Amino acid sequence: MKVLVTGGAGFIGSHLVEMLLEEGHEVTILDNLSTGRLENVRHLESNSQFHIVVGDILNERLVDKLIERVDWVFHLAAAVGVQLIVKDPLRSMMTNIRGSEIVLENVYRYHKKVLITSTSEIYGKNTSDALKEDDDRILGSPLKTRWSYSTSKAVDEILAYIYWKEKKVPTVIVRLFNTVGPRQTGHYGMVIPRFVQQALKGEALTVYGTGEQSRCFLFVKDAVRGMVRLMENPAAEGQVFNLGNRAEISMNKLAEKIIQMTQSASSIVHIPYDQAYEEGFEDMQRRVPDITKASRLVGFNPEMTLDDILRMVIDSQRRPAPAGASAARR
Ligand code: UDP
Repeated sequence: MKVLVTGGAGFIGSHLVEMLLEEGHEVTILDNLSTGRLENVRHLESNSQFHIVVGDILNERLVDKLIERVDWVFHLAAAVGVQLIVKDPLRSMMTNIRGSEIVLENVYRYHKKVLITSTSEIYGKNTSDALKEDDDRILGSPLKTRWSYSTSKAVDEILAYIYWKEKKVPTVIVRLFNTVGPRQTGHYGMVIPRFVQQALKGEALTVYGTGEQSRCFLFVKDAVRGMVRLMENPAAEGQVFNLGNRAEISMNKLAEKIIQMTQSASSIVHIPYDQAYEEGFEDMQRRVPDITKASRLVGFNPEMTLDDILRMVIDSQRRPAPAGASAARR
């Protein structure tokens, strides 16, 4: 297949591109390098089946031209990371909503197939034991910036679903739960790269709130395998799938585990949410996926445990950056 990956130089995008190339596809990425980095895909540049286009998802003519030439579109270009959304809410909303609209309009125009990446933020404050795809969304006020991300992704899902329902466009939606692994940076708030970096530098690990809030972490290669298998399966069209890992851990326990695994002398500090994000910030206390749907349809079953993931992230942060990498770092 000829495949377009929007946001292909990002953390998840670059791992997806690697897998698609390994499986024999020809891959073009579109990335504006706002959070994506060329160094994430530099090792793929010598592959003749791989092409990089630096440009914006809001550039309608460019997106039109690129989608016309491919068979499949994986749409990952988005503003991600709670910290980034809170800091730059207007641009984040535009990128997430208008960007997806432009992709869907062109997928429809040229009769292509698209996978839309959504998020577990969709469920908001629903703390159920196992969040199922059709469970309720419990959100705070739309004036609390955090919830605008959830809402922008819900609009993307609705658009993708309606294009399938009304226009028969083959769309697949995946909701990614806290995805982690090498190449993820802590710049935009993601907890594991931040804790690992703090532990390796001997700085205090910054646990927000009480630290009793929990998350389940999915290894990025497990995530992208799930995405590709769902894209290949016609029965996934017009549907939404959770992709996540069931093992749950509190942020306090995560911080302790990282300190122990890195043999760091770091301490742990607790920082109130108001200081960490913004006045009135609301977090979700728990977010556990039910992955039965993807598991039944495509055998989705995360292989990596949290310890495996942490070992890899610690190793990758310990390794010095390759020569020339700093020039590309933004
Ligand atoms: N968090 C933390 N310290 C940090 C960064 C994040 O305690 O330095 C917490 C954050 O408040 C949340 C959890 O870790 O409860 C996961 O945050 P992340 O931004 O990785 O993902 P989220 O689940 O919020 O999308």
